[in-house]
Amino acid sequence: MKTYQPLPVSFTHGEGPYLFDHDGERYLDALSGIAVCGLGHAHPAVGDAICAQSRRLLHTSNLYQIDQQEQLADELCRVAAMDRVFFANSGAEANEAALKLARLYGHGKGIDTPQVIVTEGSFHGRTLATLTATGNRRIQAGFEPLVPGFLRAPYDDLDAIRTIAANSTSVVAVLVEPVTGEGGVRVPAPGYLGELRTLCDQYGWLLMLDEIQTGMGRTGQWFAHQDSGIQPDVMTLAKGLGNGVPIGACLARGAAADIFQPGNHGSTFGGNPLSASAALAVLHTLEQEQLVARAAQLGERMRTQFEQRLATLDGVTSIRGKGLMLGIELDRPCGELVTQALQRKLLINVTAATVVRLLPPLILTDEQADHICSTVCELIERFLEASS
Ligand SMILES: *Cc1c(COP(=O)(O)O)cnc(C)c1O
Repeated sequence: MKTYQPLPVSFTHGEGPYLFDHDGERYLDALSGIAVCGLGHAHPAVGDAICAQSRRLLHTSNLYQIDQQEQLADELCRVAAMDRVFFANSGAEANEAALKLARLYGHGKGIDTPQVIVTEGSFHGRTLATLTATGNRRIQAGFEPLVPGFLRAPYDDLDAIRTIAANSTSVVAVLVEPVTGEGGVRVPAPGYLGELRTLCDQYGWLLMLDEIQTGMGRTGQWFAHQDSGIQPDVMTLAKGLGNGVPIGACLARGAAADIFQPGNHGSTFGGNPLSASAALAVLHTLEQEQLVARAAQLGERMRTQFEQRLATLDGVTSIRGKGLMLGIELDRPCGELVTQALQRKLLINVTAATVVRLLPPLILTDEQADHICSTVCELIERFLEASS
C-alpha cells in the first residue's frame, strides 16, 4: 500500500557504512536505516549469528523456554541495570507493552481510569495506542477515535507536568524520549530527567523512557538517560537492538518488573531464537569493539565541525544532538536536501520539516565522519544561498 513515498533508489547490498545500488554506485549511509544498523551493513558478527542460528532453530514459541532469549534478557539487564524484559518485534509493540504495564499498575492501585503523561513533539509508533501517545496531529489525523488515557505536556517543561500532578489523581506513568527522534532531535535541559524521576517518586508514577531510537549506544552511552544519574522504571528498545533483524524490548525494574503475570501479555514471535541471537551478537559487538565510547567520540568530532562551519550562518537556527544523533535546524523547510544529498551519494534525513537529521553507523572511520560533515555543510550552505 502507498504508506511511503520512497526515493527512486534501491540497494542490492551493503558493507559497513556503505550501500550499493543496481549500477554499482556506492552511497555513504548517514541514516543507518533510521538508527537501526548501528554496526553498519552486513556486519560479519550479525551475519554469522543469524546464519548459524537459522540452521539450528528459528522458532519454538514462548510456550517453551528459549535459551537465547534468556541470555539476551540477562545481558540487557546487566548493561541497563534493569530486572526483567518482555520481548516484542518492533518499537511500537515495545511501547504497547509499556502502556499496558502502566495501566495494570494503575488498576493494581485502585485507579480505574489510569492516565499516562506524554509530550508534544514525541513519536512512539503507529499502532492505535502509540499513535495516540505520539505528539503529532498529522500522525493521528483520520484515525479517531483515539485511545483514551493520555494527558499531554510540552516537551522539556517540568512546570506543565507539575500542573498536571496538582490537578489529576489518576496519573500512573510518564512516557518520554530522552532525546526526541522524529520530533527533531530535541535535547532537554540537563536536569529534566532527574526532575521527572523526583516527580514520579513523589506521586508514585512509573518513569517510562522510550529509548527505541536513542538506545544501544546511539547517543554515546548504552542508553541516553545514563548521564542523568537516574534509573527509569520502564525502558523500551527496538531500532538498534537487532541491527536490522526485527526485535523490540520492554525492560522494567523493581516493582514494575513484577507487574505482568502469566496471561497478561504475549507475542508469538517476540524474542524468538533468531532475533535474540541477532541482538546478542549486536550487544557483544558493541562491547568488544567499544563502539559506545566511539559513538561519543565521533559525535563530538562531527558536532564540532558543524558548529565551526554552520553556527554563524544566517538560516541555521540550532545545531544539537547527543553522540551520533545529530540535528541541524534551519529556519525554513528543507526536505529537498535529502534528494540533493542522494545525488552526492550520501543518505541523510530531514525530520519535523526543518531539521537535517543524521544517525550514522557507530563503525565510521574518522575520514568517513569528516566526509559526511563536509558534504552536509556544503549542501546546507548552497541550499541557504539558493533559497534566500
Ligand atoms: C521508531 C520509533 C518508534 C516506533 O518503532 P517501530 O519499530 O517503527 O514501531 C517508537 N519510538 C521511537 C522514539 C522511535 O524512534
